[in-house]
Amino acid sequence: SVVTRFAPSPTGALHIGGARTALFNWLFARGRGGKFLLRIEDTDRARSSDENTQAILDGLSWLGLDWDGEPTSQNAQAARHAEVAHALLAAGKAYKCFATQEEIEAFREKARAEKTSTLYRSPWRDVSESEHPDAPYVVRIKAPRDGSTTLSDAVQGDVTWQNDQLDDMILLRSDGSPVYMLAVVVDDHDMGVTHVIRGDDHLANAFRQNMIYDAMGWAKPTLAHIPLIFGPDGKKLSKRHGATGAAEYQAMGYPAAGMRNYLTRLGWSHGDDEFFTDDQAKEWFDLDGIGKSPARFDFKKLENICGQHIAAADDAALLHEINAFLDVTGALPLSDSQKAGLLDAMYCLKERAKTLPELLEKAHFILTTRPIVPDEKSAKNLDNVSRGILTELTPHLQNASWDRNTLEEVVSSVAEANDTKLGKLAGPLRAALAGRAVSPSVFDMMLVIGRDETIARLNDASA
Ligand code: GLU
Repeated sequence: SVVTRFAPSPTGALHIGGARTALFNWLFARGRGGKFLLRIEDTDRARSSDENTQAILDGLSWLGLDWDGEPTSQNAQAARHAEVAHALLAAGKAYKCFATQEEIEAFREKARAEKTSTLYRSPWRDVSESEHPDAPYVVRIKAPRDGSTTLSDAVQGDVTWQNDQLDDMILLRSDGSPVYMLAVVVDDHDMGVTHVIRGDDHLANAFRQNMIYDAMGWAKPTLAHIPLIFGPDGKKLSKRHGATGAAEYQAMGYPAAGMRNYLTRLGWSHGDDEFFTDDQAKEWFDLDGIGKSPARFDFKKLENICGQHIAAADDAALLHEINAFLDVTGALPLSDSQKAGLLDAMYCLKERAKTLPELLEKAHFILTTRPIVPDEKSAKNLDNVSRGILTELTPHLQNASWDRNTLEEVVSSVAEANDTKLGKLAGPLRAALAGRAVSPSVFDMMLVIGRDETIARLNDASA
Protein backbone atom coordinates (compact mmCIF):
# COMPACT_ATOMS: atom_id res chain seq x y z
CA SER A 1 0.00 0.00 0.00
CA VAL A 2 0.98 3.59 -0.56
CA VAL A 3 3.35 5.38 1.82
CA THR A 4 4.30 9.02 1.19
CA ARG A 5 6.27 11.42 3.29
CA PHE A 6 6.91 15.09 3.71
CA ALA A 7 10.51 15.72 4.68
CA PRO A 8 11.02 19.37 5.56
CA SER A 9 14.31 20.78 6.78
CA PRO A 10 13.56 22.84 9.90
CA THR A 11 15.72 25.72 8.78
CA GLY A 12 12.74 28.02 8.46
CA ALA A 13 8.97 28.11 8.77
CA LEU A 14 6.62 26.36 6.34
CA HIS A 15 6.89 27.93 2.90
CA ILE A 16 3.96 27.94 0.51
CA GLY A 17 5.94 25.63 -1.81
CA GLY A 18 6.60 23.19 1.03
CA ALA A 19 2.94 23.34 2.01
CA ARG A 20 1.97 22.34 -1.52
CA THR A 21 4.49 19.48 -1.53
CA ALA A 22 3.06 18.26 1.77
CA LEU A 23 -0.47 18.62 0.40
CA PHE A 24 0.29 16.56 -2.72
CA ASN A 25 1.80 13.79 -0.60
CA TRP A 26 -1.14 13.93 1.79
CA LEU A 27 -3.74 13.82 -0.99
CA PHE A 28 -1.98 10.98 -2.75
CA ALA A 29 -1.83 8.87 0.41
CA ARG A 30 -5.27 9.78 1.75
CA GLY A 31 -6.96 9.05 -1.56
CA ARG A 32 -5.48 5.56 -1.58
CA GLY A 33 -5.91 4.46 2.00
CA GLY A 34 -2.17 4.89 2.40
CA LYS A 35 0.04 6.49 5.00
CA PHE A 36 1.39 10.02 5.07
CA LEU A 37 4.55 10.29 7.19
CA LEU A 38 6.47 13.24 8.45
CA ARG A 39 10.26 13.27 8.68
CA ILE A 40 12.11 16.26 10.02
CA GLU A 41 15.40 16.54 8.13
CA ASP A 42 17.37 18.09 10.94
CA THR A 43 20.87 16.86 10.06
CA ASP A 44 22.07 20.41 9.55
CA ARG A 45 22.37 21.04 13.28
CA ALA A 46 23.51 24.64 12.94
CA ARG A 47 20.52 25.74 10.89
CA SER A 48 17.82 23.51 12.39
CA SER A 49 15.76 24.54 15.40
CA ASP A 50 12.87 23.23 17.45
CA GLU A 51 11.04 26.51 16.89
CA ASN A 52 11.15 25.95 13.14
CA THR A 53 10.00 22.36 13.54
CA GLN A 54 7.08 23.57 15.65
CA ALA A 55 6.25 26.25 13.09
CA ILE A 56 6.17 23.61 10.35
CA LEU A 57 3.91 21.32 12.38
CA ASP A 58 1.63 24.27 13.19
CA GLY A 59 1.44 25.20 9.52
CA LEU A 60 0.53 21.65 8.51
CA SER A 61 -2.07 21.45 11.28
CA TRP A 62 -3.63 24.72 10.20
CA LEU A 63 -3.89 23.36 6.67
CA GLY A 64 -5.52 20.22 8.04
CA LEU A 65 -2.75 17.95 6.76
CA ASP A 66 -2.68 15.25 9.41
CA TRP A 67 0.21 12.82 9.41
CA ASP A 68 0.40 9.22 10.58
CA GLY A 69 2.40 8.34 13.68
CA GLU A 70 4.94 10.61 15.29
CA PRO A 71 7.19 12.83 13.18
CA THR A 72 10.66 11.29 13.01
CA SER A 73 13.98 13.05 13.36
CA GLN A 74 16.54 12.28 10.67
CA ASN A 75 19.38 13.24 12.95
CA ALA A 76 18.27 10.63 15.49
CA GLN A 77 18.88 7.92 12.88
CA ALA A 78 22.55 8.81 12.28
CA ALA A 79 23.83 5.49 13.64
CA ARG A 80 21.58 3.59 11.24
CA HIS A 81 22.77 5.70 8.30
CA ALA A 82 26.40 4.98 9.21
CA GLU A 83 25.59 1.29 9.48
CA VAL A 84 24.45 1.27 5.86
CA ALA A 85 27.65 3.00 4.77
CA HIS A 86 29.62 0.30 6.57
CA ALA A 87 27.57 -2.40 4.88
CA LEU A 88 28.45 -0.89 1.51
CA LEU A 89 32.09 -0.77 2.53
CA ALA A 90 32.02 -4.43 3.51
CA ALA A 91 30.34 -5.34 0.21
CA GLY A 92 33.00 -3.52 -1.79
CA LYS A 93 30.45 -0.98 -3.09
CA ALA A 94 32.14 1.81 -1.21
CA TYR A 95 35.73 2.53 -0.23
CA LYS A 96 37.85 4.44 2.22
CA CYS A 97 39.41 7.52 0.72
CA PHE A 98 42.45 9.00 2.46
CA ALA A 99 42.89 11.97 0.14
CA THR A 100 43.55 15.21 1.98
CA GLN A 101 41.81 18.51 1.21
CA GLU A 102 45.03 19.75 -0.40
CA GLU A 103 45.22 16.74 -2.70
CA ILE A 104 41.62 17.18 -3.79
CA GLU A 105 42.16 20.88 -4.41
CA ALA A 106 45.31 20.12 -6.42
CA PHE A 107 43.33 17.61 -8.52
CA ARG A 108 40.71 20.25 -9.28
CA GLU A 109 43.24 22.90 -10.17
CA LYS A 110 44.96 20.56 -12.58
CA ALA A 111 41.61 19.62 -14.13
CA ARG A 112 40.70 23.27 -14.57
CA ALA A 113 44.03 23.99 -16.20
CA GLU A 114 43.69 20.98 -18.51
CA LYS A 115 39.98 21.68 -19.06
CA THR A 116 38.99 18.17 -18.00
CA SER A 117 36.22 17.24 -15.59
CA THR A 118 36.68 18.61 -12.09
CA LEU A 119 34.70 15.69 -10.59
CA TYR A 120 37.12 14.23 -8.12
CA ARG A 121 38.55 10.83 -9.06
CA SER A 122 40.04 9.34 -5.95
CA PRO A 123 43.17 7.18 -6.33
CA TRP A 124 41.93 5.10 -3.35
CA ARG A 125 38.97 3.55 -5.17
CA ASP A 126 40.73 0.27 -5.85
CA VAL A 127 43.42 0.21 -3.18
CA SER A 128 43.16 -2.83 -0.97
CA GLU A 129 42.73 -2.66 2.80
CA SER A 130 46.25 -3.96 3.44
CA GLU A 131 47.72 -0.89 1.78
CA HIS A 132 45.64 1.59 3.79
CA PRO A 133 47.50 4.06 5.99
CA ASP A 134 46.54 4.70 9.60
CA ALA A 135 45.02 8.09 8.83
CA PRO A 136 41.64 9.80 8.71
CA TYR A 137 39.42 8.82 5.79
CA VAL A 138 36.01 9.43 4.30
CA VAL A 139 33.82 6.67 2.88
CA ARG A 140 32.92 7.16 -0.76
CA ILE A 141 30.50 5.23 -2.93
CA LYS A 142 31.85 3.58 -6.10
CA ALA A 143 29.85 5.46 -8.69
CA PRO A 144 29.31 3.86 -12.09
CA ARG A 145 31.73 5.37 -14.60
CA ASP A 146 30.34 4.16 -17.94
CA GLY A 147 27.02 4.34 -19.66
CA SER A 148 24.08 6.34 -18.44
CA THR A 149 21.29 6.18 -15.88
CA THR A 150 17.66 6.76 -16.78
CA LEU A 151 15.11 7.48 -14.10
CA SER A 152 11.47 7.43 -15.05
CA ASP A 153 9.82 10.19 -13.16
CA ALA A 154 6.04 10.29 -12.90
CA VAL A 155 6.05 13.99 -13.71
CA GLN A 156 9.23 14.63 -15.69
CA GLY A 157 9.11 11.44 -17.74
CA ASP A 158 12.36 9.61 -18.51
CA VAL A 159 15.36 11.64 -17.42
CA THR A 160 18.82 10.46 -18.42
CA TRP A 161 22.14 11.32 -16.83
CA GLN A 162 25.57 10.33 -18.12
CA ASN A 163 27.30 8.24 -15.50
CA ASP A 164 30.65 9.98 -16.00
CA GLN A 165 28.88 13.00 -14.50
CA LEU A 166 28.44 11.14 -11.22
CA ASP A 167 31.17 11.43 -8.62
CA ASP A 168 32.15 8.98 -5.93
CA MET A 169 30.15 10.94 -3.43
CA ILE A 170 31.01 10.87 0.22
CA LEU A 171 28.75 8.73 2.41
CA LEU A 172 30.59 9.18 5.71
CA ARG A 173 32.66 12.18 6.63
CA SER A 174 36.05 11.76 8.30
CA ASP A 175 34.41 12.14 11.71
CA GLY A 176 32.19 9.16 10.84
CA SER A 177 29.02 11.22 10.42
CA PRO A 178 26.72 10.30 7.53
CA VAL A 179 25.89 12.79 4.79
CA TYR A 180 22.41 14.01 4.01
CA MET A 181 22.12 12.16 0.69
CA LEU A 182 22.65 8.82 2.43
CA ALA A 183 20.25 9.71 5.23
CA VAL A 184 17.41 10.43 2.78
CA VAL A 185 17.74 7.08 1.03
CA VAL A 186 18.08 5.02 4.20
CA ASP A 187 15.14 6.79 5.83
CA ASP A 188 12.91 6.45 2.78
CA HIS A 189 13.79 2.77 2.63
CA ASP A 190 13.30 2.14 6.35
CA MET A 191 10.03 4.06 6.42
CA GLY A 192 8.73 1.98 3.53
CA VAL A 193 8.15 5.04 1.36
CA THR A 194 6.60 3.99 -1.95
CA HIS A 195 6.22 7.41 -3.59
CA VAL A 196 8.58 10.36 -3.30
CA ILE A 197 6.75 13.52 -4.32
CA ARG A 198 8.95 16.60 -3.95
CA GLY A 199 10.19 19.75 -5.66
CA ASP A 200 12.10 19.35 -8.90
CA ASP A 201 15.04 21.13 -7.30
CA HIS A 202 15.79 17.62 -5.95
CA LEU A 203 15.90 15.94 -9.36
CA ALA A 204 19.71 15.98 -9.59
CA ASN A 205 19.85 14.49 -6.08
CA ALA A 206 17.70 11.62 -7.30
CA PHE A 207 20.56 10.39 -9.49
CA ARG A 208 22.97 10.45 -6.58
CA GLN A 209 20.45 8.76 -4.32
CA ASN A 210 19.80 6.18 -7.02
CA MET A 211 23.41 4.96 -6.70
CA ILE A 212 22.75 4.07 -3.08
CA TYR A 213 19.57 2.15 -3.95
CA ASP A 214 21.50 0.25 -6.61
CA ALA A 215 24.42 -0.49 -4.33
CA MET A 216 22.11 -1.75 -1.56
CA GLY A 217 19.86 -3.59 -3.99
CA TRP A 218 16.82 -1.90 -2.48
CA ALA A 219 13.46 -1.46 -4.17
CA LYS A 220 13.11 2.09 -5.46
CA PRO A 221 10.18 4.36 -4.76
CA THR A 222 8.22 5.98 -7.56
CA LEU A 223 9.60 9.46 -8.12
CA ALA A 224 7.50 12.53 -8.85
CA HIS A 225 9.46 15.77 -9.06
CA ILE A 226 7.04 18.65 -9.19
CA PRO A 227 7.89 21.99 -10.78
CA LEU A 228 8.46 24.85 -8.37
CA ILE A 229 5.91 27.61 -7.90
CA PHE A 230 6.47 30.82 -9.81
CA GLY A 231 5.18 34.31 -9.19
CA PRO A 232 2.81 36.05 -11.63
CA ASP A 233 5.88 37.32 -13.55
CA GLY A 234 7.19 33.81 -14.23
CA LYS A 235 10.08 34.01 -11.77
CA LYS A 236 10.50 31.72 -8.77
CA LEU A 237 8.00 32.72 -6.07
CA SER A 238 9.65 35.00 -3.56
CA LYS A 239 8.92 37.75 -1.06
CA ARG A 240 8.90 40.24 -3.93
CA HIS A 241 5.61 38.74 -5.10
CA GLY A 242 3.88 38.79 -1.72
CA ALA A 243 3.60 36.50 1.27
CA THR A 244 5.46 33.20 0.94
CA GLY A 245 4.98 31.68 4.40
CA ALA A 246 1.98 29.49 5.19
CA ALA A 247 1.60 31.29 8.52
CA GLU A 248 1.24 34.60 6.74
CA TYR A 249 -1.77 33.29 4.83
CA GLN A 250 -3.21 31.99 8.07
CA ALA A 251 -2.72 35.43 9.65
CA MET A 252 -4.40 37.09 6.65
CA GLY A 253 -7.42 34.94 7.35
CA TYR A 254 -7.58 32.73 4.30
CA PRO A 255 -9.75 29.72 5.14
CA ALA A 256 -7.79 26.47 5.26
CA ALA A 257 -10.18 24.65 2.91
CA GLY A 258 -9.79 27.39 0.30
CA MET A 259 -6.04 27.31 0.71
CA ARG A 260 -6.00 23.53 0.22
CA ASN A 261 -8.17 23.80 -2.86
CA TYR A 262 -6.04 26.58 -4.36
CA LEU A 263 -2.71 24.87 -3.62
CA THR A 264 -4.02 21.60 -5.03
CA ARG A 265 -4.79 23.36 -8.30
CA LEU A 266 -1.38 24.98 -8.29
CA GLY A 267 0.42 22.62 -10.62
CA TRP A 268 -2.21 19.89 -10.74
CA SER A 269 -5.42 19.81 -12.72
CA HIS A 270 -8.51 17.71 -13.14
CA GLY A 271 -10.22 18.84 -16.32
CA ASP A 272 -11.66 22.30 -15.84
CA ASP A 273 -12.48 21.83 -12.17
CA GLU A 274 -11.43 24.81 -10.09
CA PHE A 275 -13.56 24.51 -6.99
CA PHE A 276 -13.70 21.18 -5.20
CA THR A 277 -14.08 19.61 -1.79
CA ASP A 278 -11.42 17.67 0.10
CA ASP A 279 -13.20 14.43 -0.69
CA GLN A 280 -13.17 15.20 -4.39
CA ALA A 281 -9.51 16.21 -4.24
CA LYS A 282 -8.60 12.96 -2.49
CA GLU A 283 -10.53 10.95 -5.02
CA TRP A 284 -9.20 12.77 -8.07
CA PHE A 285 -5.61 13.52 -7.15
CA ASP A 286 -3.07 11.57 -9.15
CA LEU A 287 0.45 12.02 -10.44
CA ASP A 288 -0.69 12.16 -14.07
CA GLY A 289 -2.49 15.43 -13.43
CA ILE A 290 0.68 17.22 -12.29
CA GLY A 291 1.89 19.65 -14.94
CA LYS A 292 5.43 19.74 -16.26
CA SER A 293 5.77 23.48 -16.29
CA PRO A 294 5.80 25.69 -13.20
CA ALA A 295 2.45 27.00 -12.02
CA ARG A 296 2.09 30.71 -11.35
CA PHE A 297 0.76 31.88 -8.04
CA ASP A 298 -2.34 33.94 -8.73
CA PHE A 299 -3.49 35.94 -5.70
CA LYS A 300 -6.83 36.85 -7.30
CA LYS A 301 -7.62 33.23 -7.98
CA LEU A 302 -6.72 32.31 -4.42
CA GLU A 303 -9.17 34.92 -3.11
CA ASN A 304 -11.85 33.77 -5.49
CA ILE A 305 -11.52 30.14 -4.41
CA CYS A 306 -11.39 31.12 -0.75
CA GLY A 307 -14.58 33.16 -1.16
CA GLN A 308 -16.33 30.15 -2.62
CA HIS A 309 -15.19 27.98 0.27
CA ILE A 310 -16.41 30.48 2.86
CA ALA A 311 -19.78 30.65 1.10
CA ALA A 312 -20.04 26.86 1.02
CA ALA A 313 -18.79 26.24 4.56
CA ASP A 314 -20.87 24.75 7.32
CA ASP A 315 -21.80 27.55 9.75
CA ALA A 316 -20.54 25.86 12.90
CA ALA A 317 -17.27 24.87 11.20
CA LEU A 318 -16.82 28.43 10.02
CA LEU A 319 -17.38 29.76 13.53
CA HIS A 320 -14.77 27.32 14.75
CA GLU A 321 -12.32 28.58 12.15
CA ILE A 322 -13.06 32.20 13.08
CA ASN A 323 -12.32 31.45 16.74
CA ALA A 324 -9.02 29.81 15.79
CA PHE A 325 -8.17 32.75 13.55
CA LEU A 326 -8.83 35.29 16.32
CA ASP A 327 -6.70 33.18 18.60
CA VAL A 328 -3.62 33.15 16.33
CA THR A 329 -3.94 36.86 15.63
CA GLY A 330 -4.02 37.56 19.35
CA ALA A 331 -7.48 39.14 19.25
CA LEU A 332 -9.87 38.85 22.19
CA PRO A 333 -11.96 35.68 22.13
CA LEU A 334 -15.62 36.10 21.22
CA SER A 335 -18.20 36.08 23.98
CA ASP A 336 -20.94 33.49 23.94
CA SER A 337 -23.50 36.03 22.80
CA GLN A 338 -21.20 37.20 20.00
CA LYS A 339 -20.80 33.59 18.90
CA ALA A 340 -24.56 33.09 18.95
CA GLY A 341 -25.00 36.31 16.97
CA LEU A 342 -22.45 35.21 14.40
CA LEU A 343 -24.25 31.92 13.94
CA ASP A 344 -27.57 33.74 13.42
CA ALA A 345 -26.01 36.03 10.86
CA MET A 346 -23.67 33.54 9.23
CA TYR A 347 -25.98 32.92 6.26
CA CYS A 348 -25.52 36.51 5.08
CA LEU A 349 -21.96 37.03 6.31
CA LYS A 350 -20.66 34.10 4.25
CA GLU A 351 -21.59 35.72 0.99
CA ARG A 352 -18.89 37.57 -0.85
CA ALA A 353 -16.30 37.36 1.95
CA LYS A 354 -12.95 36.19 0.58
CA THR A 355 -11.18 36.07 3.92
CA LEU A 356 -12.15 35.73 7.57
CA PRO A 357 -11.31 39.41 8.33
CA GLU A 358 -13.65 40.44 5.53
CA LEU A 359 -16.36 38.30 7.07
CA LEU A 360 -15.67 39.81 10.49
CA GLU A 361 -15.83 43.29 9.08
CA LYS A 362 -19.31 42.56 7.77
CA ALA A 363 -20.15 41.07 11.16
CA HIS A 364 -19.49 44.34 12.96
CA PHE A 365 -23.25 44.99 13.30
CA ILE A 366 -23.66 41.79 15.31
CA LEU A 367 -20.42 41.92 17.27
CA THR A 368 -20.92 45.46 18.51
CA THR A 369 -23.47 46.84 20.97
CA ARG A 370 -25.48 50.05 21.18
CA PRO A 371 -24.85 52.84 20.88
CA ILE A 372 -23.49 52.25 17.38
CA VAL A 373 -20.68 54.68 16.67
CA PRO A 374 -20.45 55.10 12.91
CA ASP A 375 -17.00 55.20 11.41
CA GLU A 376 -16.01 58.20 9.33
CA LYS A 377 -17.14 56.78 6.03
CA SER A 378 -20.60 55.72 7.12
CA ALA A 379 -21.14 58.83 9.28
CA LYS A 380 -21.22 60.81 6.03
CA ASN A 381 -24.47 59.03 5.16
CA LEU A 382 -26.23 60.34 8.20
CA ASP A 383 -27.20 63.90 7.33
CA ASN A 384 -30.17 65.74 8.77
CA VAL A 385 -32.47 64.84 5.90
CA SER A 386 -31.80 61.14 6.23
CA ARG A 387 -32.10 61.31 10.00
CA GLY A 388 -35.57 62.77 9.48
CA ILE A 389 -36.52 59.90 7.21
CA LEU A 390 -35.27 57.33 9.73
CA THR A 391 -37.44 59.00 12.39
CA GLU A 392 -40.39 58.69 10.06
CA LEU A 393 -39.63 55.06 9.41
CA THR A 394 -39.64 53.79 12.98
CA PRO A 395 -43.43 53.86 13.67
CA HIS A 396 -43.99 51.86 10.46
CA LEU A 397 -41.49 49.27 11.59
CA GLN A 398 -43.21 49.08 14.94
CA ASN A 399 -46.27 47.56 13.33
CA ALA A 400 -44.81 45.70 10.38
CA SER A 401 -44.65 41.94 10.34
CA TRP A 402 -40.97 41.04 10.56
CA ASP A 403 -40.22 39.34 7.28
CA ARG A 404 -38.10 40.39 4.33
CA ASN A 405 -40.94 41.25 1.94
CA THR A 406 -42.81 43.42 4.40
CA LEU A 407 -39.64 45.20 5.50
CA GLU A 408 -38.76 45.95 1.88
CA GLU A 409 -42.25 47.30 1.26
CA VAL A 410 -42.23 49.48 4.33
CA VAL A 411 -38.82 51.00 3.63
CA SER A 412 -39.70 51.51 -0.06
CA SER A 413 -42.91 53.30 0.69
CA VAL A 414 -41.27 55.62 3.21
CA ALA A 415 -38.58 56.34 0.64
CA GLU A 416 -41.20 57.10 -1.98
CA ALA A 417 -43.13 59.37 0.32
CA ASN A 418 -39.93 61.36 0.69
CA ASP A 419 -39.27 61.51 -3.04
CA THR A 420 -36.27 59.30 -2.79
CA LYS A 421 -35.29 55.76 -3.73
CA LEU A 422 -34.84 52.69 -1.62
CA GLY A 423 -31.17 52.66 -2.62
CA LYS A 424 -30.69 56.15 -1.21
CA LEU A 425 -31.89 55.01 2.17
CA ALA A 426 -29.51 52.08 2.33
CA GLY A 427 -26.53 54.28 3.30
CA PRO A 428 -28.23 55.95 6.28
CA LEU A 429 -29.76 52.65 7.39
CA ARG A 430 -26.39 50.96 7.22
CA ALA A 431 -24.83 53.76 9.24
CA ALA A 432 -27.55 53.43 11.86
CA LEU A 433 -27.59 49.64 12.06
CA ALA A 434 -23.92 48.81 11.56
CA GLY A 435 -21.97 52.03 11.70
CA ARG A 436 -20.01 50.71 8.75
CA ALA A 437 -20.18 51.22 5.01
CA VAL A 438 -19.57 47.46 4.57
CA SER A 439 -22.22 45.16 5.96
CA PRO A 440 -24.82 42.64 4.87
CA SER A 441 -27.96 44.09 3.28
CA VAL A 442 -30.01 46.32 5.57
CA PHE A 443 -32.87 43.80 5.48
CA ASP A 444 -30.63 40.95 6.52
CA MET A 445 -29.37 43.05 9.41
CA MET A 446 -32.92 43.92 10.48
CA LEU A 447 -33.95 40.29 10.34
CA VAL A 448 -30.92 39.17 12.33
CA ILE A 449 -31.05 41.76 15.13
CA GLY A 450 -34.86 41.85 15.31
CA ARG A 451 -37.47 44.55 15.69
CA ASP A 452 -36.59 46.07 19.08
CA GLU A 453 -32.89 46.35 18.41
CA THR A 454 -33.53 47.77 14.92
CA ILE A 455 -35.81 50.47 16.23
CA ALA A 456 -33.47 51.27 19.10
CA ARG A 457 -30.55 51.73 16.69
CA LEU A 458 -32.62 53.92 14.37
CA ASN A 459 -33.70 56.05 17.33
CA ASP A 460 -30.10 56.37 18.49
CA ALA A 461 -29.05 57.51 15.01
CA SER A 462 -31.80 60.06 14.55
CA ALA A 463 -31.61 61.46 18.07
N1 GLU B 1 14.56 18.19 3.21
C1 GLU B 1 14.37 18.48 1.83
C2 GLU B 1 13.78 19.87 1.67
O1 GLU B 1 13.40 20.47 2.61
C3 GLU B 1 13.43 17.49 1.15
C4 GLU B 1 14.15 16.27 0.71
C5 GLU B 1 13.27 15.25 0.03
O2 GLU B 1 12.03 15.46 -0.05
O3 GLU B 1 13.81 14.24 -0.38
O4 GLU B 1 13.76 20.41 0.60
